Amino acid sequence: MKGMMMHRPLKIADLITFAADTYPAGEIVSVRTEGDIHRTTYKETAGRIARLAHGLKALGITESDRVATLAWNGYRHFELYYAISGIGAICHTINPRLSAEQMIYIVNHAQDRVLFVDLTFVPIVEKLRPHFPADLRIVIMTDRAHMPETTLEGVLCYEEILDGQPGEMDWPDFDEDQAAGLCYTSGTTGNPKGTLYSHRSTVLHAYDMCVTIPRVLNEGSRILPVVPLFHVNAWGLPYGAPLSGSSLIFPGGALDGKSLFDLMDREKVFSAWGVPTVWIGLMNEIRQRGRIPEGFGDIVVGGSAASRSLIEAFEKQGINVCHAWGMTEMSPLGTQCNLPPEMADLPFDQRIDRKQSQGRRIFGVDMKIVDDAGNRLPHNGTTPGHLYVRGNTITSGYYEDPEASKPVFDKEGWFCTGDIAAISPEGFLTITDRSKDLIKSGGEWISSLDLENIVMSHPGVANCAVIAVPDAKWDERPLLIVQPSDEAQPQKEEILCHLAERVAKWQVPDDVVFVDALPMTATGKVSKLTLRKQFPEAPHDA
Ligand code: ADP
Repeated sequence: MKGMMMHRPLKIADLITFAADTYPAGEIVSVRTEGDIHRTTYKETAGRIARLAHGLKALGITESDRVATLAWNGYRHFELYYAISGIGAICHTINPRLSAEQMIYIVNHAQDRVLFVDLTFVPIVEKLRPHFPADLRIVIMTDRAHMPETTLEGVLCYEEILDGQPGEMDWPDFDEDQAAGLCYTSGTTGNPKGTLYSHRSTVLHAYDMCVTIPRVLNEGSRILPVVPLFHVNAWGLPYGAPLSGSSLIFPGGALDGKSLFDLMDREKVFSAWGVPTVWIGLMNEIRQRGRIPEGFGDIVVGGSAASRSLIEAFEKQGINVCHAWGMTEMSPLGTQCNLPPEMADLPFDQRIDRKQSQGRRIFGVDMKIVDDAGNRLPHNGTTPGHLYVRGNTITSGYYEDPEASKPVFDKEGWFCTGDIAAISPEGFLTITDRSKDLIKSGGEWISSLDLENIVMSHPGVANCAVIAVPDAKWDERPLLIVQPSDEAQPQKEEILCHLAERVAKWQVPDDVVFVDALPMTATGKVSKLTLRKQFPEAPHDA
């Protein structure tokens, strides 16, 4: 027997309509590419989204068309998220840090019909335009007064698309499984692969994040997504914030420690979300100024592992650190590490130990770990295995890419994350490595993440990475690459000693290479792929 309740499709547009009705004064503050600060509310934004949606229809955009964005975090990008999906089209966010080759690949693969571009990225588009589809329309995200001189032919102006359009929209109903967003992974191997989010998965993810991180997502809370709207939906914040009544503070393109500190201080940001590299920059600024930004109380850190020293530094300043893990293919949230009440009174060190783990799963994400043969492994906290997930917010295959899709699902339909992890009896997940980053030395696995964590606690180290290099005797050996902190000149021996005191002797790398800066991926993580190319073997003076 079926239940007798109404069935309304879950739709993204309903989130902004709800926010405009329920939290009309909820704010969206943006650092604009034009150079000033822009302030608006959910109520005003809902009106502009309606105008933009009418404007998109006037451009000929219809259901399932792909409309691309190449933009920083700001109110216009936010409006595009809602207007595009609201009319049943698909918002394809492009990461401006991708290589030219990757960008050309994804715009053509997605067959984008319109590309919305921030002023900053106009030069990139000018260069790549000949390689994009001939009928691609280009819109510059500014007003008439700020339209730049450009070699691009027939470009449109964002504000003119809204001009004269009605500020209300009767959002169409469609199946909740209708595609809404498209985001390509940065493609560390092979071509980038597209994750195609649906209205249903996006709304469920918004619910999930609100119930899982209520400390941050609540009415009146002020949240800074440093994580870009061009990468995995800024971790879901453009949807979770309006649903919970939180305000959004968008930083534009200024993501250095000083700019972030000033913005957070001025806007009384409570919670800021981003990858570890960003927080290293902010912590340097906090140390220099000898205080934290006013109102600051929380960070959500993920995208790559947050080191113990980073977590400790923020917690010592009274800032709650929530370590989170996820993937583009997972919308992205998988786990978050806010501690349960029974752990609140643990001694400081033990709390930090716990917070180093990636935390417990969010509702709707099932997790299993398996051995090489696919047999389930126990959740005892010490046995690592290949991590698989399934759930309503997880991809069921890559967009128009059956070949790439096949190998990532097991017989039971679970998605292979490519991460190696252990799960404790209390449900805490600890990622030990990406499977392709694991180091196998003399038949024993060495976790690069464990080593990096320890090295990061050395005061002379700003950032580091451990990669495998081939070794005649041991197959592979770990090589440590260190970016020293400003003015520090740590010695090799000193760093290796620091490690030797904390891990088994055979795990200690044979050598340390110092670099001025570690190469980063398009999503702000240390690029081990580049490092492996740079250091295909141990340096000869080892
Ligand atoms: P990209 O590869 O394009 O940067 P993702 O952001 O989807 O894309 O990367 C997901 C991967 O990032 C995860 O599979 C995991 O290896 C890593 N990751 C994400 N969050 C964490 C975390 N908190 N700790 C360790 N690794 C993480």
